[in-house]
This record gives sequence, C-alpha cells and structure tokens, in this order.
Amino acid sequence: MFRAELIEKVARFRYAQDDPASNLSACPSLVLNADYTPLSYYPLSLWPWQTAIKAVFLDRVDIVASYEREVHSPSLDMKIPSVIALRQYVKHSEFPAFTRFNLFLRDRFQCQYCGSGSHLTFDHVIPRRLGGRTTWENIVSACAPCNMKKGGRTPGQAHMHLAERPIRPTSWQLQQQGRLFPPNYLHETWRDWLYWDIELEE
Ligand SMILES: [Zn+2]
Repeated sequence: MFRAELIEKVARFRYAQDDPASNLSACPSLVLNADYTPLSYYPLSLWPWQTAIKAVFLDRVDIVASYEREVHSPSLDMKIPSVIALRQYVKHSEFPAFTRFNLFLRDRFQCQYCGSGSHLTFDHVIPRRLGGRTTWENIVSACAPCNMKKGGRTPGQAHMHLAERPIRPTSWQLQQQGRLFPPNYLHETWRDWLYWDIELEE
C-alpha cells in the first residue's frame, strides 16, 4: 500500500466512542529520540495522538507503550500510542537560542539575587549605561524588587550577590534544567522514560 493511502486511512480514523467525555485529545504521545531519551524535557515532547499514529504509519517511529483506548477504522483497530520512539536520531544543536524563556530556564525561574520565583524580570549584571551587553553572560533573571533595588549599579556597587555566575548554557545543560519541571500531567507509561537515569543515580 502506498504511503499516501495509509495517511488517508489514518485520516478516516474515527473516535472509538462517541461519548464526548471520552476526550481522545487528552491522549498525547510522549516522543522519545532514537536513544530512548525524551526528545525534549521542557517543554516535554508530546504529540497529539493523530500525529503519533501518522508517524507510525510512515515508519518514522516505533511504538513503545500504548493507552488502553483504541481508535477504529473500517479495516483496523489500534491502541493509541502513549510512548513512541523516533527511528532516526535527532541531533540537538549544541547551543540553545538566546530567548527569554531559555534564560529563565537556565536560572530555574528564580531571581538570581534572592531566589524568589515571582515577578521575574531581566537584569543586566553590568548595566547598559556602563557598557553591559545583552548576552547570556550579562543577563540574569531577577525579581522586580531586586531589579529596582539594584538600579543602574553593578552587583558590587549595590552589595547584591549573584547565586551563580551567568553562563551561556549548552542545549544539554538546559535540558537538564528542564527535568526539574515535570508537567502537571504524567501518564504512568511515561515515567520509566523520564526518570530512569535519575533513579539509577540515587
Ligand atoms: Zn529577588
């Protein structure tokens, strides 16, 4: 059968139950890389079940675990995959993009001066008026009160201490940080793939 026909077939899948409360959209698949580590920890790599099933039919992924819930087509019944693994390894770029989100993630969503997690802003460690640049090495997460208190001064001038020297993280380091923030919802079949190496370390 041609792939196009398979995709067509997937498109004709209908819901296993007509009960709207069954809410199939709440069956996302955890996506693992070809080495069986999550493609991304934060945000956790999840695909809608429709995308996961398409990828199965395109031979791009292997099914690692499944939900009990099934989808039906005229010729095929299939359990919805809850964990899938890519057949081809996706190599991450060495360094992540310099974005607000990634910077907060590097700093674990905490003010680097007092540790607070609320009202986070960005602080130029060396103020711009003193030539401080907008780079990984000169920007830290800071709560609004600390940012106000520091004003246009260096940490030394303001007698404020950084928890850590800001660095440009690698993608790997950022993913390690992401592991500290599991999502609210974790299906039981995901847990083995998210925490196995942590458990081994303990
Ligand atoms: Zn603070």
